[in-house]
Amino acid sequence: MLTDEFGREVTGVRISLTDRCNFDCIYCHNEGLGDTRGPMDPQDDEMSADDVVRFLEVVEEFGVDSVKFTGGEPMLRQDLEEIIERTPDSMEVSLTTNGTFLPGRAEDLVDAGLERVNVSQDALDPEDFAAVTKSGAYEKVLEGVRAAVDAGLDPVKLNMVVFEHTAGYVPEMVDHVAENDGLQLQLIEYMPELTGRPEWNIDIQRVHDWLAEQAAEVEHREMHDRKRYWIEDDDGGRGMVEIVDPVENPTFCANCHRVRVTHEGYLKGCLNRSDDLRPMGEMTKPEIREAYREVVANRVPYYGEYMVKNDDGEWEINDEYVEGYAEV
Ligand code: SAM
Repeated sequence: MLTDEFGREVTGVRISLTDRCNFDCIYCHNEGLGDTRGPMDPQDDEMSADDVVRFLEVVEEFGVDSVKFTGGEPMLRQDLEEIIERTPDSMEVSLTTNGTFLPGRAEDLVDAGLERVNVSQDALDPEDFAAVTKSGAYEKVLEGVRAAVDAGLDPVKLNMVVFEHTAGYVPEMVDHVAENDGLQLQLIEYMPELTGRPEWNIDIQRVHDWLAEQAAEVEHREMHDRKRYWIEDDDGGRGMVEIVDPVENPTFCANCHRVRVTHEGYLKGCLNRSDDLRPMGEMTKPEIREAYREVVANRVPYYGEYMVKNDDGEWEINDEYVEGYAEV
């Protein structure tokens, strides 16, 4: 296992398989690349299945034991099943998707080796859903979630980005997972860093406080410093809600154990930064090994190290890193 200078072991990788997406979510950071959405047809710049598998075989040597496939919309890749099938057996395989292509494919993904899925669902109303995702595929997403549960991928995690447009729907979504078996809710704090709309931010602490009042049980998972809220409905149904709150949160960054890969095959040590992209050359195993070692060695916790608070209590880039770049 490789460990960075801040004592963080890298145990997982998050691979973007494509930049393409059939949605155009207004909040999307596109895995830290901003709005780079390309045309829907297959693109030459995407890593091939062979590249992805070679990368996974190399990081397996370094003890990486989990991979999450994302995008863009990873299910636009027709070779997703092949990639999952060829992923080393030692790795847990999960997927983040908008869910529209799960009907008819969920079982094939499970047969290929998929173990967990997160489906983005930001509202429980077709019109609100369309306003946030710029898509009319609401029913298809619900169908996709059902297909995933039926294929044995339960509990399916519903990802909901909490920001100005969706905050009012949190109670409904919480009820929804309490009332329906096989679902969990992951409330994701809106990250304004890469979208340029800080005014959409909401106070995530209020969501924590509200959930703590509603919950029958609150569990604190030390490893990720995350709380889990268990919510009960009137008929004894139980649902789990988790909050992912990385913004201005040094504890979150101190617990980050992931390296990212862009669809073009660049390594990325931090979601919030785009000055740390590292190509892997022709993606031969020696080149991948060298690039991976270097990226892990250069990983820096974003909040608390790369960004620090100044005397006025505002976050600013740590001089140490500004100077580092000035010399390049
Ligand atoms: N298309 C897939 C999907 O819809 O899940 C995968 C890609 S999407 C970029 C991956 C995750 O990033 C989604 O769960 C989405 O909710 C989250 N996300 C995107 N932009 C975000 C932002 N500005 N703040 C917080 N989460 C964001």
